[in-house]
Amino acid sequence: MDVRKEPGGVIRHSVSREDMILINRLSKTELKPDQVYTFAIRLCDNEVDRDWERFDQDALETLSRLFVGKSGIFDHNWSTEGQTARLYRAEVCRESGTTSAGDGCQFLKGYAYMLRSEKNRALIEEIEAGIKKEVSIGCSVTGRRCSVCGKEACGHQGGKMYDGKLCYFTLREPVDAYEWSFVAVPAQRKAGVIKSFVHKQGAELKQLLALYLLAVNLATLLLMGVDKRRARQNAWRISERALFLPALLGGALGGTLGMRIFHHKTRHWYFRFGFPLLLALQLAGLLWLALRL
Ligand SMILES: [Zn+2]
Repeated sequence: MDVRKEPGGVIRHSVSREDMILINRLSKTELKPDQVYTFAIRLCDNEVDRDWERFDQDALETLSRLFVGKSGIFDHNWSTEGQTARLYRAEVCRESGTTSAGDGCQFLKGYAYMLRSEKNRALIEEIEAGIKKEVSIGCSVTGRRCSVCGKEACGHQGGKMYDGKLCYFTLREPVDAYEWSFVAVPAQRKAGVIKSFVHKQGAELKQLLALYLLAVNLATLLLMGVDKRRARQNAWRISERALFLPALLGGALGGTLGMRIFHHKTRHWYFRFGFPLLLALQLAGLLWLALRL
């Protein structure tokens, strides 16, 4: 599941000796303080966002480890090579206030460096001037948990109240941090945040299932048609077992349609009632899956 959050903001930061040690762990050649420009950014926080999702403290701590070494992208005007920054340190910071979830406000602060090169001069000026300050992050999490029932997948809707309890989803166990970038338009709750949330595995699974169902139903329909023609021609027939098997394996819709379209096997009770019964069972199964995925 991929997550993109944009709570961003640049915080001014100056280079210390400790910073240089961390930076030089990441750079190929030894850099000197006057060669680098550093700045701190607000990567994300633990507030419930517009999609009724939030990171908890554990997730922020994990992200603080995952983001070190990740490079930042500047929007398209700055896509030239060399005009990138890299995070050399990240930490979870507390701030005043309480989140909608009821715990203390925390945010993930990242420290980034970039080369003070001629190429980067204009960009550094923009950061200094506060023009470039909105940041978005991309990361992958293993799941999310409902605040009402504690389940991964449920029927509760984010933002609604259930018995006086607000429903929101806690993003769990980040496994990867992709990148962070300066964005033109911010949109978080505080600063404004835009975010896309992709259930990658779920989407792929759905696509596969849809393809499979299409294939198995077409196959069942085709078999019904072919067998009907063979019956008319008194040719060698497809066994009833071979007609039932694909219908059993998810092709009940194709089988039922085939029975109707070709007026085939309608006199056999196990087809006439069996196919619609299988269809009803398979539709119920699909509905169950759709609610879970
Ligand atoms: Zn729930």
